[in-house]
This record gives sequence, C-alpha cells and structure tokens, in this order.
Amino acid sequence: MAIGNVSGEGDKIAERIACFVKCLSLFYEYVVRRKEFARWVSLAVKQSRKRYLMDNTAVIRRRRALIVHAHSEADSFVAAMRDRALHALEQQGWEVDQSDLYAMDFNPVLSPDDFGPRSISDHLVYALEQRNAYAAGTLAPDITEEIRKVLSADLLVFTFPVFWFSVPAILKGWIDRVFISGPFYGGRRIYGAGGLSGKRALAAFSLGGREHMFGPGSLHGQLETGMLRHFLQGTLGYVGLEVVEPFVAYHVPYISAEARTALLDQLEQRLARIDHEPTLAMPDLAGFDLSFAPLPANA
Ligand SMILES: Cc1cc2nc3c(=O)[nH]c(=O)nc-3n(C[C@H](O)[C@H](O)[C@H](O)COP(=O)(O)OP(=O)(O)OC[C@H]3O[C@@H](n4cnc5c(N)ncnc54)[C@H](O)[C@@H]3O)c2cc1C
Repeated sequence: MAIGNVSGEGDKIAERIACFVKCLSLFYEYVVRRKEFARWVSLAVKQSRKRYLMDNTAVIRRRRALIVHAHSEADSFVAAMRDRALHALEQQGWEVDQSDLYAMDFNPVLSPDDFGPRSISDHLVYALEQRNAYAAGTLAPDITEEIRKVLSADLLVFTFPVFWFSVPAILKGWIDRVFISGPFYGGRRIYGAGGLSGKRALAAFSLGGREHMFGPGSLHGQLETGMLRHFLQGTLGYVGLEVVEPFVAYHVPYISAEARTALLDQLEQRLARIDHEPTLAMPDLAGFDLSFAPLPANA
C-alpha cells in the first residue's frame, strides 16, 4: 500500500512537472514566435471582417436603374410611361437615376469640345480621343457624368417616341457621346464580351403606327429585327447589355384614354418582373473567329 501511495504521489509530481515544462515551452514558443502569432491573429480578424462585409454588402446594396427619357413634353404619353417605370422600379426597391435629356438640355452634337488635350490635334478621330480622354479623365463633364450613371446602373430603361423609324435625335446624340470606345466596347469586347455585359436594358417606346403595320409580312416589316435593330442590337446588344423584349405602345395618339391607361398598366407589370422578362437573341461570339469571320459550322 505504502509503495503504491508513494508511486501515486510520484506520478502527480511527474504530471505537474510535465505540465510546467509544457507551459514553459508554449511560453517560449510564444516569445519566440509572437510576431508571427500576432500576424496570424490579425490576418484571421481581417479575413473574417472582409467576409462579413462582402456578405452584408450584397444584401444591403440596392440595385440601381437609370431611366433615359427623350420627350420634350412633360405631359406627353411617353412622360407618363417614364413616370410609371419610375414608380414600378421604386416599388421594387430599385434606386433610380434619371437622364431627362430635353429637361437637361443635353447637347447631342459630338465635337472637338468633348475632349481636353487631344492625341491628334489637326483631325478628330472621335473614338480614339474617347478612349484616351476617358483614361486621362479629360472628357467633357456632361459626358463623364452620363457615363458614371450608366456604369453604376444594373438596368437601363429608355423611354421615347419613335421618330422616322428611329430614336429621337437627342437620344441618338446621347448614345454617340456617352457609349464610348473603351469602357463600353473595343476590339473583341462586343456583344456577350461588351463592356456593359451583366446589365439589362429595356426600351419602352410609342408609335403613331398601328400594330398590324409591323411584323413579318407587314407594311413596315419587323420592329425588333428590322426597324429598331440598329438600336436594340447595334447599340444596346453591341455593348453587351441583355436586351429585354421592348415595350411597344402602338398608335398612341389615336387610341382611347382607357386603352392608353391599360398600356401604362402593362408597362408597370413588365417592370415589376424585369429580371424574368425574355430577352432578344444576340450574336454569339463563339461562332466567329478572331477577325469575326463566321466559323465553318456557323457559315
Ligand atoms: C418627327 C416625327 C417622326 C415620327 N416618325 C414616326 C415613325 O417613323 N413611325 C411611327 O409609327 N410614328 C412616328 N411618329 C409618331 C410618333 O411616334 C408618335 O406621335 C408618338 O409616339 C406619340 O407619343 P407621345 O408621347 O408624343 O404622345 P402624346 O401626343 O404626348 O400623347 C398622346 C395622347 O396621350 C395622352 N396622354 C398623355 N398622358 C397620358 C396618360 N397618363 N394617360 C392616358 N393618356 C395620356 C395625351 O393627352 C394625348 O392625347 C413620328 C412623329 C414625329 C413628330
């Protein structure tokens, strides 16, 4: 028994010594490696803070839309479309910017005044100067501001009346000056690889013409793939936007007030489900070689 007790005491002492030695060695490790340890702790804190911010920013960030409106009259039907679009988007929690081109007196005429110091002074190569001036921060302030609005938007909505099978001149000029070479497109950065890929666009426009004047076999032919292809594909699709099927208000000046109200209701409903609205087909770059010649399977 006595021997057993002595052995038990001895074990305890041995255990304590082992524990003391372990603590001592940990303390030694800490003293020797304390800088490394501090760095590790600070890295872990930074990473968890970054992860927290990323997760929560995604939740907190409200999606942004930009409405580009091109009608001179505040009481026009197109202005009513703009107002309904704004209302529908705000109801859905979007943060909405606006560019009311006539109200802003937007200058639609491109000119040498759009740039600061130019790379070629005696002949204006507009797209070249756009790229250089954007990189140098010397674009005219009105263009810079519109580019900022476009680039910070997830969704672009255009409201306009059709003029001569096209968009009003003020909107055409806005595109010419704002959709610049560089951030919007360049080289092979077009269509799915365009600068605005990942964003959506909706064109909502009014027409004097009746619905049966448009479409296959009709008087004026197709709207999306014919009359307004230059805008829907050649502009919006070209810079990479996912182009939602347009909202078309036919024959607007000649229909009843009730029919116009019904159109405005339809527009509002479409904007309420804008993420799920069908989009127009755009060329797929995978079917073309580096010079954009069709690949054999596509030819
Ligand atoms: C230069 C030019 C070229 C054109 N080229 C073409 C062309 O190529 N193809 C074509 O089809 N058309 C063409 N048009 C016609 C043009 O597209 C239409 O006149 C235009 O789309 C009508 O829209 P708006 O907003 O101007 O209508 P508005 O004239 O402003 O309004 C139409 C009616 O709606 C009413 N209204 C306004 N607000 C509301 C509301 N909230 N609820 C109910 N009613 C309301 C107004 O009082 C008015 O009676 C052209 C017109 C011009 C001037």
